[in-house]
Amino acid sequence: MSGLSGRVFNYSAGPATLPVSVLEKVQGELLNFHNTGMSVMEMSHRSKEFKGIIIEAEQLLRELMGIPDRYKVFFIQGGASLQFSMVPLNLLPRNETATYIHTGTWSKKAMQEASKQGTVQVIKSPTANSIPHVTQQDIHQHSHYVHITHNNTIEGTRYSELPETGSIPIVSDMSSSILSERIHVADYGLIYAGAQKNLGPAGVTIVIADEGLIGKQSEDCPTMLAYQTYSSSDSLYNTPPTFSIYVVKLMLQWMKEQGGISTIADANYEKASLFYKYIDESSLYHNRVDSNSRSFMNIPFTTDSEELDTLFIKKAAETGLVNLKGHRSVGGMRASFYNAMPIDGVTSLIDFMKEFEGTVRREAHA
Ligand SMILES: *Cc1c(COP(=O)(O)O)cnc(C)c1O
Repeated sequence: MSGLSGRVFNYSAGPATLPVSVLEKVQGELLNFHNTGMSVMEMSHRSKEFKGIIIEAEQLLRELMGIPDRYKVFFIQGGASLQFSMVPLNLLPRNETATYIHTGTWSKKAMQEASKQGTVQVIKSPTANSIPHVTQQDIHQHSHYVHITHNNTIEGTRYSELPETGSIPIVSDMSSSILSERIHVADYGLIYAGAQKNLGPAGVTIVIADEGLIGKQSEDCPTMLAYQTYSSSDSLYNTPPTFSIYVVKLMLQWMKEQGGISTIADANYEKASLFYKYIDESSLYHNRVDSNSRSFMNIPFTTDSEELDTLFIKKAAETGLVNLKGHRSVGGMRASFYNAMPIDGVTSLIDFMKEFEGTVRREAHA
């Protein structure tokens, strides 16, 4: 237990754990936000209070990520999965080509949507355990963009170096890695991320787009699916997910208070390194991702025995370490260590793993 009344360590891949201080802030402002006599949930999205919230959320995001002025920031509903459709609808003229680097479950879904709009050039990972090295020669000459899944939430892989694409823009699904490490926004044409992993609650998706890529949708593109709509209305064309945006703003404030991305990235590296080190030294647990493709956010591991994995997940939950079951397509266990997971959550899990390993060894010798 984390020491707070009934709170557990929640290793869910998403929606994921949030800092207690953020939840308490929400609680404190719930009934009467800044003397308006109402909660953010009940407030007009056209009110000056809500406009203050959405503007501050964008400013904080720009500051934390160092987003250059020529990039637009949008708050969109529909999850990262809607971006699988919006990206090709806005960036890929009909029947032309886009390149997708296929590294797992999410990239596959993104590719499926793009193939409804045009031709998809697929560059595949040699194995599910690594990220391919991609150079300009591998990419179709007339490709409109190269899509990557920056962190593969299910497979536990991550890009440690970006594909070399020359002047072709990189579009990156950063749902499970946004704000977890230092990146150069200018290396990308467009970044998108559902909020419910590293950024707050479900319901809002952040899109950061080079303004040169906006406004190229076809004439029959539905209004709500055109980036142009969000660009010309500051994400207020219709009612945005106001409460989710408010919590994202609080999360961004929290990240700033932590010391910004550098501090958070260092903490994430430390958390993941500690965990990998333990797994690599243990003879019971395994993670088979290539060392330079290992995710800092989502770490799948297994005992190689379905029976032991099931027992592990059950026993862990009994001690307040919850949501450790791996994705059904991978099996085993998975621990997600997003920004809001304190180091205590990692050491508590390792302590439990040691204890479990000890029990298994003793029973094998009995
Ligand atoms: C969770 C996730 C998605 C899907 O997000 P939704 O917001 O549920 O649509 C897409 N891509 C990645 C990398 C994810 O982790």
